[in-house]
Amino acid sequence: MLKRPLGIYVHIPFCVEKCGYCDFLSAPAGADEQSRYVRALLKEIRSYEPVGDQFAVDTVFFGGGTPSIISPTLIGKIVDRLHDVFAFDDEVEATIECNPGTLDEKKLKSYAKLGFNRLSLGLQSANDRELRTLGRIHDYAAFEESYRLARKCGFANVNVDLMSGIPGQTMDSWRQTLETVVALQPAHISAYSLIIEEDTPFYYRYTTEAGKKLLPTEAEDRAMYRYTNDYLSDMGYRRYEFSNHARRGKESRHNIKYWTMQEYVGFGLGAASYLGGKRFSNPRDMEEYIEHAPNAYAGFRMQPVRLIKRSMEEFMFLGLRMTDGILKEDFAELFGVRFDTVYGKVVDRFVQTGHLEADEDRVRLTDKGIDVSNRILAEFLL
Ligand code: SF4
Repeated sequence: MLKRPLGIYVHIPFCVEKCGYCDFLSAPAGADEQSRYVRALLKEIRSYEPVGDQFAVDTVFFGGGTPSIISPTLIGKIVDRLHDVFAFDDEVEATIECNPGTLDEKKLKSYAKLGFNRLSLGLQSANDRELRTLGRIHDYAAFEESYRLARKCGFANVNVDLMSGIPGQTMDSWRQTLETVVALQPAHISAYSLIIEEDTPFYYRYTTEAGKKLLPTEAEDRAMYRYTNDYLSDMGYRRYEFSNHARRGKESRHNIKYWTMQEYVGFGLGAASYLGGKRFSNPRDMEEYIEHAPNAYAGFRMQPVRLIKRSMEEFMFLGLRMTDGILKEDFAELFGVRFDTVYGKVVDRFVQTGHLEADEDRVRLTDKGIDVSNRILAEFLL
């Protein structure tokens, strides 16, 4: 039987401290709480036993939170359970997210032994004042130490997360951050703009009149975005998604699954899955999650298949984030209908205004289209 490719996401919802801007599902926790959570995770993975060998897992991503905060022994138990339950492809991309200040040589060596071949390091800024503003637990020197240690332990495929639009950040300090990081030659750089999320300390600090003045203006933010794309492109990184840049062949295969609607299963608190045309998210409350975990797959089977129109819209919203855009053939294969029959008119309209480029095979946003992407994507609602 031909096995279906599958991505696996594992959520580790623990951090040393909460950063001021963060609304991810993560919080500090002691060793007992961490072990209790991992026990639930193991049960949740086990619940997929009836179908595990139908798949060939080809990407794994441990994210959070800060996966590197928990002991490598616990990480090892999760990896072993995944291998017990699922069949794996020979060429797996296995990523673990780590934060500077939580890594040492022993941990890195054990990650390599467990089969991880890609690290994602949260830096955000090379400027210590900006790191303090964000409430990060590390300074730039700690990041560089972690980065060099990772390279020494054999990790050639490293992503560095960066953030523009930080309060007090200037074009000059952003340029310096980019230059400092590029000098280390990581394989991949993710560069996102800060979003002020509701109910975070940043929301209360930076949505007042006085607070707003400390944020870069929208025009400065756009200028930083454009500079990032131009500079990283000059330095040999290809932008393959709105905010992601990679050396040739080092694009994140796992994240591409999200943007191209390939199947993945998310394990852990609040984790989302997309499987067999169904979308599902785990409970976001810890007690509810722990209760749900042993029967997670049974619960997933009960989910309704998504309405085809919602799936088509999602295909466009996600696929147009990729700079290569969407393939009409993929659309036809997924939905059994010609792309032009559904979206031909809207595409023609935006090709004429210069917001989209299209040919026989592909449709993609132009730079002009990316600048107003929310407005363009809204037109793909059916
Ligand atoms: S390290 Fe990441 S997940 Fe943890 S609090 Fe900071 S931003 Fe949130």
